[in-house]
Amino acid sequence: MCWVLKMKIEVDGRIVLSDILDMPENEVREFFREINNTVLKKGVPKGAIAPEINSFSVDGNEIKVNIISDRHVRAPNALLRIKKAIGKFLSKYKIGVRKVVIDRCYVEIEVDNSIDRLKLPYATSKIEGNTVKFVVENIEEQKIEDGLIDKLINLVKEKSLQSKYKGKTEFWKLEKKSNEKKMLFDENPTKKALELGWISEFPSIGQWIFTPPITKIFRTIEKMIIENIAVKHGFQEAIYPKLIPLEIYAKTGHLKGSAHEMYFAEPPIKRDSEIFEEFYDYVRLGEIPKDMLREKLKPPLYGVCYAQCEPFYQLFSGKIVKLEDLPLKFFDRSGPSFRWESGGVRGLERVNEFHRIEFTYIGAPQDVVEIRDALLKSAIEIVDKKLDLEWRVAQATPVYLAHEGRVSEEKGNFVHSYDLEVYLPFRGGREESNWLEITSFHVHEDHYVRSFKIKEVKKRDIWTGCTGFGLERWLVGFLAEKGFEIEKWPEEIKNMVGELPKPVNFVK
Ligand SMILES: [Zn+2]
Repeated sequence: MCWVLKMKIEVDGRIVLSDILDMPENEVREFFREINNTVLKKGVPKGAIAPEINSFSVDGNEIKVNIISDRHVRAPNALLRIKKAIGKFLSKYKIGVRKVVIDRCYVEIEVDNSIDRLKLPYATSKIEGNTVKFVVENIEEQKIEDGLIDKLINLVKEKSLQSKYKGKTEFWKLEKKSNEKKMLFDENPTKKALELGWISEFPSIGQWIFTPPITKIFRTIEKMIIENIAVKHGFQEAIYPKLIPLEIYAKTGHLKGSAHEMYFAEPPIKRDSEIFEEFYDYVRLGEIPKDMLREKLKPPLYGVCYAQCEPFYQLFSGKIVKLEDLPLKFFDRSGPSFRWESGGVRGLERVNEFHRIEFTYIGAPQDVVEIRDALLKSAIEIVDKKLDLEWRVAQATPVYLAHEGRVSEEKGNFVHSYDLEVYLPFRGGREESNWLEITSFHVHEDHYVRSFKIKEVKKRDIWTGCTGFGLERWLVGFLAEKGFEIEKWPEEIKNMVGELPKPVNFVK
């Protein structure tokens, strides 16, 4: 079913001419009648309502028009068509068209559900039941050509869908699970690691110092994943930047729905110590004047690494690839990711700064799905056989929609995203407690291929996918189920870890 039940657009526009129009009014009337029956009907489906010039008036070198339309050939587009037609018509009188302007555009949209709140850029808007009404004034020609009104209508559509599925945004469906495993521990591993001096709190929340003993276990798990996933499936290592220009985050969609949990980076206005002199002086007095510092910084230019796969799509941005050269499979583990969890911070498993091995792949649709599924299979093997953890796999909201703050729109039976979760005994019983997602496996279809304008030389379909292994979460999952007595651990990880370095001791 169509999301719009009714649409009405009314434009008060002006066509500005290069000279005063000195012409009998019937001739102008005849011209507009002709336009209504030809130019404005073009491309309108049979039986649908075409836009119409409702009234006009000539005033010096301006023609004012009032245009009313439905959804097909919307009134702002009709105005552009009229401009072109008038240009042709008046050329014999040696009069040109300078520009067109919309003084006022009124839009009324009835949708199939009510929207709870709405604030549109450039517009004043209100909601009456299932109807959204908005007005935009003084729209210059460039903005008309850029499709401002169409974009605002699309925004209403997204908001309408959002409120329709509100509360259902977290899509989750069990796919499969392991046998029940023997738990060797039932405490919170973060607490235990703190007691042992394996980790230390940082002054800011959601960040930890890892001392050598836990770092050795962390690196062992990382090694296990590299050997059994990256090497096994032919992924090659790459190094991706961690400061991501906002323009890239606009393309990935993160700026449409994830900014509230991102960190942003602001370089200094100028690399000039004089600008900072006053600030330095305050610091020398033992203060940190943070507001003063902000004045000396540019506005945010970068988002700090959030998804970790962004540079992979940028690598292919605007490029033409050949299917025969694909799939390409890269992984990055060159640095941390950041997420502003705020009040959601929990122990080692939910942090503001974390480490991840991010697998990224591009290729024919079939290949991308196969790669994703193979990664999932191998990850389950590690978790189940090598680490002997209790796990389950769930279908989840497609990641690219989640990042844009959008809802699930599962098409058919195809699953875009799987989450691999492990049981945390310290959180309570298996049925009622929250399990921990340690890796997510995604196919994006052509979502990023389109937004990054990646082309195939023969226009064959290409898709992308990504899979992120959250290393802190693997570590927490393992310690939560297998505990801190190494001699009781499964054979392989016990041997790989070997002897642990000593923790840091403090006299006080
Ligand atoms: Zn990703």
